[in-house]
Amino acid sequence: MQDAIEAVDQALRAQAAQQAHFPLRNIVNVPAGKLGAMPGAVSGRLPALGAKLVTFFPDNGKRDLHTHHAIIALFNESTGVPEALMDGRYITEIRTAATSAVATRVLARRGAQTAAILGTGVQARAHARALKHVMPLAELRVWGRNRINAERLARDLREEGLHVRALDAAAAACQDVDVVCTVTSAIAPIIPERTALQGAHINAVGASIPTRRELPADLVARATLFVDSLEGALSEAGDLVMAIAENAIPALPPMTLLADVVAGNAPGRTSAEEITIFKSLGIAIEDVACAGLVYERALARKAGRSVQV
Ligand code: NDP
Repeated sequence: MQDAIEAVDQALRAQAAQQAHFPLRNIVNVPAGKLGAMPGAVSGRLPALGAKLVTFFPDNGKRDLHTHHAIIALFNESTGVPEALMDGRYITEIRTAATSAVATRVLARRGAQTAAILGTGVQARAHARALKHVMPLAELRVWGRNRINAERLARDLREEGLHVRALDAAAAACQDVDVVCTVTSAIAPIIPERTALQGAHINAVGASIPTRRELPADLVARATLFVDSLEGALSEAGDLVMAIAENAIPALPPMTLLADVVAGNAPGRTSAEEITIFKSLGIAIEDVACAGLVYERALARKAGRSVQV
């Protein structure tokens, strides 16, 4: 996770320096789910050119399957020759949490030590494991719509040495907390309207399509907004798209690229009372940067199989 955090940090710095490129993702919908294509290129210490194909099938939980699956293909950035094909499910898991960790590192208030995770799935677990790299995590609260899943997550994370308790209500989990991660597939806000959240930093990770949301519009309107992609935020982020449709925020709301904050080109938080939201959509350069790292390690360890294509 620590390596993924630094790989994402480097990819964001490349994005800020105009040395990273990715178009808006292409999505194909089928009745049970969707398939997205996410090509991207990053230059820097570990240049990478590649694409992720990722599926989201929200009912897979009932089949005891992950809701997200993916493969990542890497190509040589000088010749275009294919270099590696690898699983992308786990990379999606850790690069997303790693990105929230990077956002937390630059946007949470000084001395932040308590966090709430709303959601109990793959990203909930990964976010707990990522946050501990960037803050002390004196107290971690978890909430999920299913209490049993929240208890199970809390127990598992306690076994990993974290101070965790499961709470019955999202509002209670958010009370006086420094960092909130929303990591659900909710279609309606999971945080109640008018929840105070003064001074909190929120990583809003679910709802990466315009018809899903996790945050109430009044919270979005009270917060300073940071995004991974300005173009994506206005077309893919349900939390923003719906807040705009409800006239809670302007059609072109003020938003700052997380990459610019990481690179020191733009201010992040400006006061201890400010609410900051990092609306995470997930961008291809996070995937190809982490895949590049995996490829480098695999070559060094002689892992994987060579095949002629
Ligand atoms: P999982 O399927 O593993 O977990 C989903 C979680 O959301 C579960 O806790 C589930 O609860 C909960 N949930 C589902 N529907 C609702 C609902 N209607 N209201 C409240 N909670 C709900 O998914 P992941 O952890 O992999 O992903 C979580 C979210 O993050 C997804 O929306 C996903 O698309 C998004 N995502 C975003 C990425 C990014 O880069 N921004 C990357 C990867 C994922 P229960 O267990 O009770 O079903």
